Amino acid sequence: MSAAQPTVPPATKPMAPAVGPGGQLPVLSPDVSFIEIEALRSQQFLPAAKEALSALVKEQAEGTLIRPLFNWAGRNSLFPLHWGLACCAIEFAAAFGARWDAERFGVVPRSSPRQCDLMIVNGTVTWKVAHKLVTLYEQMPEPKWVIAMGNCATGGGPFRTAYSVVPGVDKLVPVDVYIAGCPPRPEAMLDGILRLEELIRERGA
Ligand code: SF4
Repeated sequence: MSAAQPTVPPATKPMAPAVGPGGQLPVLSPDVSFIEIEALRSQQFLPAAKEALSALVKEQAEGTLIRPLFNWAGRNSLFPLHWGLACCAIEFAAAFGARWDAERFGVVPRSSPRQCDLMIVNGTVTWKVAHKLVTLYEQMPEPKWVIAMGNCATGGGPFRTAYSVVPGVDKLVPVDVYIAGCPPRPEAMLDGILRLEELIRERGA
């Protein structure tokens, strides 16, 4: 009595990739399988991707596709400058700790102004540091936003009349959101960030 032979499923032949009229560009549909995409990748997928990107760029120029997408991504992934000016900076730092976890809103501090789109001015601004602040702001790429965090950044705070203090950072750079308090708590900073997101949404619309 012979042993039972294992059954082997018949080999499946990959489907030929769909080709558009004239045989130049593939026509992608929701039914395209992974094998088909692999087959398309080398010679046919790249021209198709190029054509798709060209269409996206055209729609971007018309402001119909990329701009809303960019606004959505930008306002949900704000990168504030990682710095501190005075006591409000302690609240700024606490907001990124485990208790308030600002990063759950996509807010990730970056140490280079060239990678930031948000400057949170978190303390007293003196005239001595003013030109450094403006330099950092100018090094940030567009689009960019500024939050004045606390009474000092908003209007000089308790040091408003001091000869060395700038009476409000809006004398140096444009401010989008003001957060009151001396100091504002981390919750207030998070609320300011959410207000800024609303502002970006409104401006994008
Ligand atoms: S607003 Fe108050 S807590 Fe904030 S930097 Fe000024 S003095 Fe310090």
